[in-house]
Amino acid sequence: MPAKGLKEMLKDGGTVLIGEGYMWEFERRGYLKSGGFVPEVVLEHPELVRAMHQEFVHAGSDVVEAFTYYAHREKLRSIGREDDLEKLNRTALKIAREVADETGTLMAGNINGTGVYSTNDAESHKYAKNMFKEQVQWAVEGGCDFIIAETFCYLGEALIALEVIKDAGVPSVVTLTPYVPDVTLDFVPFDKACKMLEDAGADVVGLNCSRGPVTLMPLIKDIRKACKGPIAALPVPFRTNNKYKTFMTYKDPDTEESLYPINLTCHLCNRADVIKFAKEAKAIGVQYTGLCCGNAPNLFRELAEIYGRKPPASEYAPDVSNNILVGETGENINKEIIKIRKFVRGEITEEEIKEMRINGQI
Ligand SMILES: [Zn+2]
Repeated sequence: MPAKGLKEMLKDGGTVLIGEGYMWEFERRGYLKSGGFVPEVVLEHPELVRAMHQEFVHAGSDVVEAFTYYAHREKLRSIGREDDLEKLNRTALKIAREVADETGTLMAGNINGTGVYSTNDAESHKYAKNMFKEQVQWAVEGGCDFIIAETFCYLGEALIALEVIKDAGVPSVVTLTPYVPDVTLDFVPFDKACKMLEDAGADVVGLNCSRGPVTLMPLIKDIRKACKGPIAALPVPFRTNNKYKTFMTYKDPDTEESLYPINLTCHLCNRADVIKFAKEAKAIGVQYTGLCCGNAPNLFRELAEIYGRKPPASEYAPDVSNNILVGETGENINKEIIKIRKFVRGEITEEEIKEMRINGQI
């Protein structure tokens, strides 16, 4: 068990880092179907889920989030596996609890937007609430330290999720998802919406998913001004911009074809982008942060290091000085290699390098 809970860790400006993005990472590795994104891998390959949790802790995550994203009744029903709902949730929670115990990290239960909630349909509110209740109950029975309610595009639905978590008596992190408009789908600006969630008792409020660092940050700054308590920022590591504010809107520059969700890798952030985001988030006082869909341990480690951590993975942080094509200090790097790499990079011609060899310059 960790020495401190979520609220204690965040006290007096403390920070909590969370490596999310399991869903997309499992898809990338060939164990999860893009499109529906149902985490069947929890039942099919629990050993891989355990290993991925361990990898993100190794890279600096303070939290092991049970892989129950989209493990809700509607999603399981949509693929004909409703009977596996409870088993999947309990298995995911058990794996997460075990890894958290082994590594001294926090374990978070996880619920998310249901896809059934509709603003003026009171029945859909009840239905969503019941979906949250069963997952929250399993999370509490599974020994979660807190619950993450994430990826809500409706403030109304997020408030219902928060109410269920509060009734269960566990701390909460509630994050909304901004699409292209700067308002929720029930037309509330995100700073106001986060303030309402904070006032309703959420321990951490903020945004996750959909937007990359560049287009998420302006909203995060507004939220920082509007809220008193800890705020959360979890962008997707994609280079969204004013033309493409979310990773759902990307078009291929050559063909104009939509790229979401299966052809997005050409827009991934690099390490420098993540470092820039982490520095900015830290500077404005974001206490709870991480990366969402598209995250990978090597990107997450960069964020963790900016936040002052030195996770075990830092031992393997890049050192290009030893790289034969760009480095300068490796013991085997000689003048010939330096000239040859210029040739490799097209900076000198074949004739020039031959001439150098003939002249004994290399
Ligand atoms: Zn995401």
